[in-house]
Amino acid sequence: MAEPKKKKIVQAQPLSEEAKQKYQQARPVGNAAGYRIGAILLWIAAIACEVLAILTFAGKIFASSDPESNKKLILVIVFLVADLICVIIASSLWKHANRIRPASEKNKLKFWLWNNLGVIVSAFAFIPFIIIALTDKNADKKTKAIAAAVAAVALIIGGLTSYDFNPTSQESLSAAEEAISGTVYWAPSGKVYHTHTDCQSLNQSETLTEGTVAQAFEANRNRLCAFCARRDNIAGVVTDEVKAGEEDETPDKTDENAEQNEQNEQNEENGETKEAA
Ligand SMILES: [Zn+2]
Repeated sequence: MAEPKKKKIVQAQPLSEEAKQKYQQARPVGNAAGYRIGAILLWIAAIACEVLAILTFAGKIFASSDPESNKKLILVIVFLVADLICVIIASSLWKHANRIRPASEKNKLKFWLWNNLGVIVSAFAFIPFIIIALTDKNADKKTKAIAAAVAAVALIIGGLTSYDFNPTSQESLSAAEEAISGTVYWAPSGKVYHTHTDCQSLNQSETLTEGTVAQAFEANRNRLCAFCARRDNIAGVVTDEVKAGEEDETPDKTDENAEQNEQNEQNEENGETKEAA
């Protein structure tokens, strides 16, 4: 009986999986200022494309003598698409810079505006065109509708791709760097980094990237795996269980409130008793 049992306990599986895992070194942390300059130049290019679209739409440039020609509309769409491409690349550079040098979250409004600067620029890159196109009295209805619709779709795509869905702060990077000095690891996908290569949630990943906390943040991995955090007893660092943690806090607060209410009631009762006495 003992022998087949031994065969069943295949200890080799995690080992073989570990042997399968390949490691690659993360790139050195990039230069945030360089990414920011690239983003700003591309945002300027985006606005320039919008100006070209507006001028073309108004017939100030590339005017065609043939009224039946679609040249104007096609050119307008080309400029709007170029505008959108600039906005998308610029925002990805901007977000990358914010992974390297995150903003402080002390001022929430500033933090939001800084992280989502691309959303604001997107608005400036398309809304003026939409207003001008819709209020143009010389253009025919069909051209107006198509041009405005293309710009509106571009505005939505540009805004969504510019929005930072996974922002990180200077404070959370500093906290993570203080708590974790060694190498961290991350899988090809996800937003989590680990302090252990044999972490249970890394079983499925064949290739791991290894690097410092700063490199993990640059790679958009700004949450420590909750299993690894518990294993190393790391506290005060943003983990992938932050939301769960917040949920945990709510009942605590309710409990506290309940306790306080009880105490208040007791005090009141005591007061009443005293008054009665
Ligand atoms: Zn882990």
